[in-house]
Amino acid sequence: DVTATKGNEFEDYFLKRELLMGIYEKGFERPSPIQEESIPIALTGSDILARAKNGTGKTAAFCIPALEKIDQDKNAIQVVILVPTRELALQTSQVCKELGKHLKIQVMVTTGGTSLKDDIIRLYQPVHLLVGTPGRILDLTKKGVCILKDCSMLIMDEADKLLSPEFQPSVEQLIRYPPCKSTNFDEFKDKYLPKPYVINLMDELTLKGITQFYAFVEERQKVHCLNTLFSKLQINQSIIFCNSVNRVELLAKKITELGYSCFYIHAKMLQDHRNRVFHDFRNGACRNLVCTDLFTRGIDIQAVNVVINFDFPKNSETYLHRVGRSGRFGHLGLAVNLITYEDRFNLYRIEQELGTEIKPIPPQIDQAIY
Ligand code: ADP
Ligand code: MG
Repeated sequence: DVTATKGNEFEDYFLKRELLMGIYEKGFERPSPIQEESIPIALTGSDILARAKNGTGKTAAFCIPALEKIDQDKNAIQVVILVPTRELALQTSQVCKELGKHLKIQVMVTTGGTSLKDDIIRLYQPVHLLVGTPGRILDLTKKGVCILKDCSMLIMDEADKLLSPEFQPSVEQLIRYPPCKSTNFDEFKDKYLPKPYVINLMDELTLKGITQFYAFVEERQKVHCLNTLFSKLQINQSIIFCNSVNRVELLAKKITELGYSCFYIHAKMLQDHRNRVFHDFRNGACRNLVCTDLFTRGIDIQAVNVVINFDFPKNSETYLHRVGRSGRFGHLGLAVNLITYEDRFNLYRIEQELGTEIKPIPPQIDQAIY
């Protein structure tokens, strides 16, 4: 149970009154375990290396200390939050804005794929907290428009992803100029977090509370199978994963033709469009979302109770990120995997690696099965 804690209250941290109001208005009654472990330490200014499973409230665990530490009378960027994707940047800034609703803290989002010029103009206004992807923040810093000399807190969400080869050079340049190279997470940690306070709450099973099924199908039966699932399952909202951009678009078209409401999102769409779709889906404008793995990391949509792997993922990490979602913050969920003949070994391997059970879907699907 992710809400079972040591019994601390948010009052115990002596936060600014306005921040406390924002926390309660967001509906948080008590800190989650990762928040209990990390908030008091972060408030002391120590370096922290924290790990906790999906959906346990890591975002607020860093946003709350960040908002508390910011001096709103000082016109300077004081906190930078690095994230690997644009969607996560938007979602994180939203959390900051909600928690900081009664504070006068200016939050700015900056990510690749949007107008650099607009960002430069926005940086002429006061900004206290900057959320964004590493490449864009580095660009703005090199241009001298994003000034980080008063930044005293750097947060790296999804740090393992940020330290993958795709992002790591930008991240490291941002932290230290001229750039020097560290090649993996451990080296990076030794260099920049020599004595962090380590919090590790990873010991719980991440797929807990999620019922997982598979259905053996031929490629050409997949749409038909999906149609059957749609008609039998109680879907609040669903996310349907495909392994390529093309397949996302094709499938979304098919689903619409079948008469179900459906959005899609993938990396080749214009950023504005992606933002709008993501926002509208979150707000419940549509029941189903078809997407690629672009969408998997750290994204939290509470209303999603069904995840369908239309295409089965290649490895267990991807599987966990896709499916872990529906069990966030204790919500129960259902995952259905469409398995072709070629996928069968992957299915067994992923099941083994994750120490979980993916069962054949029963012929009679009703609510009693999950
Ligand atoms: P993580 O980053 O650890 O995967 P998130 O930060 O996305 O998880 O949080 C998952 C969900 O839990 C969000 O919907 C968030 O609003 C909710 N949540 C976070 N902290 C609390 C809390 N203390 N009480 C109730 N809900 C919370
Ligand atoms: Mg997260």
